[in-house]
Amino acid sequence: MKRSYLKRVLQVVVFLSILYTAGCNDNGGSPSGPSDCVSGGVCGKVTGTINKAPIPGSTVRIGGATAVTNSNGDYALAGNFSGVTVINVDGPSQFPRQVTKDLSRSNVANIDAIERINAFSLQFYRQLVRDAEESFFLRPTNRWEGSEPTFFIDTRPEIGTGAPIPSSTIDTVRNVIRQSMPVFSNGFITGSKITVTNNPPPDLSSGSIVIRFDHTLLQAGAFGVTRIQTIGSRIDAAVTRLVLNPSFPFDELTSHELGHAVGFFHASARPSVMVATGSCGCGLFTSDDSVHMKINYSRPAGNTDIDNDPTDAVTKSLAKREVIEIICRK
Ligand SMILES: [Zn+2]
Repeated sequence: MKRSYLKRVLQVVVFLSILYTAGCNDNGGSPSGPSDCVSGGVCGKVTGTINKAPIPGSTVRIGGATAVTNSNGDYALAGNFSGVTVINVDGPSQFPRQVTKDLSRSNVANIDAIERINAFSLQFYRQLVRDAEESFFLRPTNRWEGSEPTFFIDTRPEIGTGAPIPSSTIDTVRNVIRQSMPVFSNGFITGSKITVTNNPPPDLSSGSIVIRFDHTLLQAGAFGVTRIQTIGSRIDAAVTRLVLNPSFPFDELTSHELGHAVGFFHASARPSVMVATGSCGCGLFTSDDSVHMKINYSRPAGNTDIDNDPTDAVTKSLAKREVIEIICRK
């Protein structure tokens, strides 16, 4: 008797589990998407990356199966999908987007795509994150992932002049880290890990961004040089050298070089602190910088043009170590 009761309880539990799995649940949260999201199918919502609003009229595609988002941005794809799956979304009011989702965890795939709105410039974005202004090819995006870097402000005298580093300069660098980094990284880098030291780790030590003062750059016509070391497309380390007394505001120069250290390149299609001359007259960053930089840090490292997240296979094939040097000169 006791045994059959237990069996009955187990049957109910199993039945409820099946119901739960068949429903449209995202990480155990409340149901979302159209109610016809059935077992084996995929459902979810398509929203804008910038304004976060639902995007109606977009086509969601897995292989040959397609569905169009309704006025709430919701879609439901009938079919039998499981495991790691590539999903494409395209529509008149968004740029094409490709994501990779593990459907064995959930059959909800909420996807954000970049809106076709004036706030976004594809040309500027390509310059900023894909080095389109100076590279021969559109790079996959580079960014810090995992844990945030530690900033080391090197207090040794400026190379070339032996000039001591004023405490006001160190304060400026510290303030720029704290103000620019959260904006550039969509909040990922808080700038809370700062070490002021005359004994920084060797250049390109894993997890570090070292800031060093170097007057000899001027001999090459430069005011700053930043090198980033990447593993795959993940930034592993960076070192930036900058002159102590540039011909334009020092805080702009610092923000510019740290922009390189977290994955950005020279960009001129919109007002930007990343303009190649380093002198934007815009303070630490512009509103265009903020909008476009945040997109990079809302995507995994290795996102490719226009907006394709890497599949695991692609990420692994790209997992080689590379050092990229960015020279900044007038
Ligand atoms: Zn630069």
